[in-house]
Parts: sequence; structure tokens; C-alpha cells
Amino acid sequence: MTLPGSVLHWFRRDLRTADNRALNRAISLAKKSNLPLIPVFFLDPEYHNPTACGPLRMRFILESISALQRSLDDKCSSRLRVICARPTDVFPDLVRRWGVKHLVFEYEYAPSERARDEAVVADVEGFDVDVVREHGFTLYNPNVLLQKAKGATAPTTMSSFLSLVDDVGDPENPVEFADGRQVELTSCPDATLKDDDKDGYLLVPKLGDIGYEDCTKQTGWERFRGGEEEGIARMDEFLSREGGKVAARFAKPKTSPAAFVKRETTVLSPYLALGCVSSRVFHARLRDLEENHDVAEMPQTRLWGQLMWREHFWLLAGMVPEFHRMNGNPVCRKINWRTGDEAELRLKTWAEARTGYPWIDALMMQLKTEGFVHHLGRHSLACFLTRGDLWVSWEEGYKVFEHYLVDYDYALNSANWMWLSCSAFFSMYFRVYSPVAFAKKWDKEGAFIKHYLPVLRKLPTKYIHEPWKAPAMVQKMAGCVIGKDYPERMVDHSKASKENIAKMKENYARNEYGAERGERQHMNGES
Ligand code: FAD
Repeated sequence: MTLPGSVLHWFRRDLRTADNRALNRAISLAKKSNLPLIPVFFLDPEYHNPTACGPLRMRFILESISALQRSLDDKCSSRLRVICARPTDVFPDLVRRWGVKHLVFEYEYAPSERARDEAVVADVEGFDVDVVREHGFTLYNPNVLLQKAKGATAPTTMSSFLSLVDDVGDPENPVEFADGRQVELTSCPDATLKDDDKDGYLLVPKLGDIGYEDCTKQTGWERFRGGEEEGIARMDEFLSREGGKVAARFAKPKTSPAAFVKRETTVLSPYLALGCVSSRVFHARLRDLEENHDVAEMPQTRLWGQLMWREHFWLLAGMVPEFHRMNGNPVCRKINWRTGDEAELRLKTWAEARTGYPWIDALMMQLKTEGFVHHLGRHSLACFLTRGDLWVSWEEGYKVFEHYLVDYDYALNSANWMWLSCSAFFSMYFRVYSPVAFAKKWDKEGAFIKHYLPVLRKLPTKYIHEPWKAPAMVQKMAGCVIGKDYPERMVDHSKASKENIAKMKENYARNEYGAERGERQHMNGES
């Protein structure tokens, strides 16, 4: 059916009602002009396909949009429509059919999303549509930060970023849903549209409907349920631990990468990455809590500091071309990573959790079954693949993480991979994570390893981090013969890491900046 007019709100990575300025704007435009509000979400085959987006994240997205649909049903009389198509393919048709007068959405800063948005804006140009965009994904509007930096390039160190933020002051306060007013959209023709849902837009598809295999039988420990309510419940739970002391005294390097029954960090990243929880709400709650408690000392490692890393990397990602690649990316050192069949084989072995290093393989299994790994676990995985052991490009690791992580985020994934591979931000390439010593520090008894690699369960603790050292008889008794039940280690870490440090030295000498300049950033674990 064709409507005489409407306000279209396009949800993307703002899958919530609280502190959603763009949604509030759409609602107020609908009320002011007495037009129906039509909220939409696109399942875009470019992003939501089984290669780019693994089933665990996809399931999280579907749950989040189902929750949002229920929430909008309750809070305002507008049903979320889920459209399986590329926005640029269908926008002109939707605008015509629904008589869209105002199109409202939140800014995105990654280049491909920006290009998509520009294409949509160009598509609707001829239809006399008022396009309204609001900032909302990060605490600070990057343009405001850049204005404050007075045209200077974006800061590439955390300390310069923090002084910029210091100049700007606190981020804006969160806003309530529709400014706290009850929403009644008088002329909403939703009932008519529901009867006329020949396109099936009012149903959230199931995984199987969009080319995914069902993953509901997933065995992983952590089960992320998508949605705003679930995200807020997790935030509340974490912020109330020991009356708020845990959050206030939070120091990232002290949190354990091997804690899998009760996590020691917030585990809010999937909810922040898809906007189920607003970073401004989280920040405001944290600020209030910190005012009433003694806080940990190092700003970078505090919980507040974690949000600042997110801000910092999003500011850079919006400015630096090809932020997720080595070539064409001005902040990334050009390292001559291994290429060809050997690189492919190494990548595959790492990604299939067959390195023969239990700590690395257990972390990989956690990633694949749960879609989440603690930050220091990600350090171990990333260092091992790149400069530590395998000398495979961080771009390859980025893609594996992109596929499996529930919290995949363009800026955070790129920046952290560059960091760990010493391609940018961090240059102490001679500091390498040992897949054995680091594991012994955090997973002394091997409980984490045994949980994610049951084949090693019966191996005596003495050998759990280095099973190749177990005598043949011990291996046999434990039902885990190395080379048969569990792989031989693919490289000898002590040899490989030494060779790689030497290669890194050569690579740094070829690059115009590096360790010699003494960049000494410390993030979450390096000391
Ligand atoms: P908490 O410690 O509770 O921190 C709260 C929030 O702060 C996080 O949810 C996140 O939004 C932000 N944050 C925390 N650490 C960082 C960091 N180092 N950089 C930027 N922001 C941070 N995080 C993602 O959200 N998506 C990714 O795709 C991603 N890829 C990564 C790849 C590698 C190689 C590494 C080393 C890290 C990556 N991270 C990524 C950053 C970090 O590991 C996760 O944000 C964090 O582990 C999520 O757990 P949490 O929510 O419990 O974090």
C-alpha cells in the first residue's frame, strides 16, 4: 500500500530505546507532523552473511532486533520492520510506497557504512525527503573532538587523547526514551500495514531463513542473549558487585583471562558494539559510582579507561583511511609478513585450534564456541599468530576475529590487531607473550584449558601447558597421545619468537618510525 506520508527511522547499531537521540528525533518529528513512524532494520547480505558474520553474532543480532521489536510494540505503536536486502537496492521503492517525509538515522563512522549512508542519501534526494542524522554510537562526537584539536591530526597516543578529552570535558548526559514522555502516535496505520504485510517485513527471520545453520545447540559456557534488557541487566549486575567497589577499583591487568565461570570484566562489548547498551548510559553510571568510591589509579586500565580506548580508536578509525588494512593505512607499519601456502597453512592451523599449544588452542575454542575471549586472551592469540610465533599478517587474524566475535567492531578489532602485532601504537616488539609462561601465570591448574580442550582433561597438571613433555606412558594413560589425539606443537616458541624479534628489528629499521622513537604506551596488561 502507498502511504501519504511517514517518518522512517533506520536502526543500525543503535538497537535500543534508552538514550537513542535519533529515535527520539524520529518520534518527535512523527508527533509534530502527525505522521506514522516506521522503524526499519536491514539484514544486509553484504554484512549479514555466514562468511563475514558467524552464527553466534548473527543469532545475537536477531535476538536484539526481536527484543527491540517487542520493546517498540510496548512503548510506541510502531512495529519494527526487518528487511532482508541491501538498503541501496530498496530505499527509493520504500520511500515511494511509504511516502517518507523524514528519514532519521544515527551517524556511523566506518568507511563502508559511511559510503552506504551517502549512497542512500543520494538515492532519496529526488524524493524531497528531509534526512536527519544524530550522533550516538560513541561518547563524544568525533567532529567535536577534532574541532577542539584545532585541525591538528587526531592523537595517536592514549595520553594525548586523554588530554584532548580533558579539554572537551564530560560527554553529554544520556537522554530518556522519547524525552521521558509517553509516546502516542495518533495516526499510525500500523494495523493496516500489518494486514498488508505481503513482504513479511514484520517477522524477524530465523537463522535458517537467512542461510545459517542453527547454532542453538552450541556447547559454550557463555551464552550471549541479544537485546537491550539483557545488556542493561549485565551492566547493573557488574556495577553493583560489592556495592560498586569492583567497578570502581577495576584494573584491567588484574582481571583474569582464564576466568570463564564468572567473568572478571563487564562482558558488555557485544551490547556496546551493537548499541543495545548506550556507551553514554554506561559512562554516566560509572561516573556516579566513581564519585562515591576510591578509584584505581591508572586511568588507562580503569573501567573508565576502557571506554576511552573505545573512543580513541573510533576517532582514529573515522579519520585514518584503510584502518583495517596494512596498505594504504598511514598509521600502520609495513611489515613483510609471511605469504603464500605456508602462511595459509599456519593461519588454518591456528584458526582450527591445532597449534599444539594448549593455551592458544583453548582460547581459540572459546572464541569459536562462545564468540568472546578476554582481552588478554585476545592478546595471546594475536601475538602468537603475528610477531610472536607464526609471522602471519594481522589482517588475516582480523578476518578470523571478525567472523567469530559476537562483539566484532571495525575500529576496536583493527586498532587492537595493529597494537598486538606492533604495527601501530605499540612498538616493544621484543616483549612477546609466551604461550606457556603466560598460561601458567593465569591458568595454573589448567582448568581453563581442560574445559575448552576436553581431550587434555586427564593429563596431569604438570604437563597441561606443555603436553609434548609428558612421557609416552603418561600420555597413553591420559588417553591423549601427542601427534594422535592432540597435535604436536607447530613451532618451537623459544626459537620462533627469537627469529621473529630479529625480523621485526629489520622491519622497523625499514619503516620511518618505530621502537627507536621509544613509543611507550601501556594498555591493559603490558607493563
Ligand atoms: P571491559 O574490560 O569490561 O571494558 C568495557 C568496554 O570498554 C568494552 O566492552 C569495550 O567496549 C571497551 N574496551 C575494552 N577494552 C578495549 C580495548 N582494548 N580497545 C577498545 N575498547 C576497549 N573489542 C570489541 O568490542 N570488538 C572487537 O572486535 C575487538 N577486537 C579485538 C581484537 C584484539 C586482537 C584485541 C587484543 C582486542 C580486541 N577488542 C575488541 C578489545 C577488547 O578485547 C574487548 O573490547 C574486551 O575484551 C571486551 O570485554 P569486556 O566488555 O568485558 O571489556
